[in-house]
Amino acid sequence: MLFSASARPSSFGGGFLFDIIKRMGWGLGYDSRWKRYIGYGVTAYCDAPKCNEEIDRGLSYVCGAQEPYGGDNGCGLYFCSKHLFYHRFRDMEYEREFCKRCIRRRAPYEPKPEHPEWVNHLLTDDSWADWRKENADEMSRLKAMVQ
Ligand SMILES: [Zn+2]
Ligand SMILES: [Zn+2]
Repeated sequence: MLFSASARPSSFGGGFLFDIIKRMGWGLGYDSRWKRYIGYGVTAYCDAPKCNEEIDRGLSYVCGAQEPYGGDNGCGLYFCSKHLFYHRFRDMEYEREFCKRCIRRRAPYEPKPEHPEWVNHLLTDDSWADWRKENADEMSRLKAMVQ
């Protein structure tokens, strides 16, 4: 569901951090590493290969200790609960959630194409009208993704 207030803080102590980020306007942000929008307002597919689970890009789904961009140990991609695993790296005090690749210190998965619902929102919603004027290239990239 797009832009609903359905924040889903993880049961593992993430609620507080999540609340702060939410108040700071992290319902929608831009991830410059992966060049895509993040936040709980973004509908997405799990980034694990062959998994089509629908999630959002809120911090309860990120690989990397619930930090935007994945923190020091995570890739910052977004995964459903089946593809996130608790792990404690040596510099961490507690176990947090990561994808398999990061736990094994392997290169990250290839990020999934954007969810058609989200792309459609970017391409049609009034709130993105100005953005569309300024981002023609990104628009055609997104359009190609859903065709
Ligand atoms: Zn990862
Ligand atoms: Zn998954």
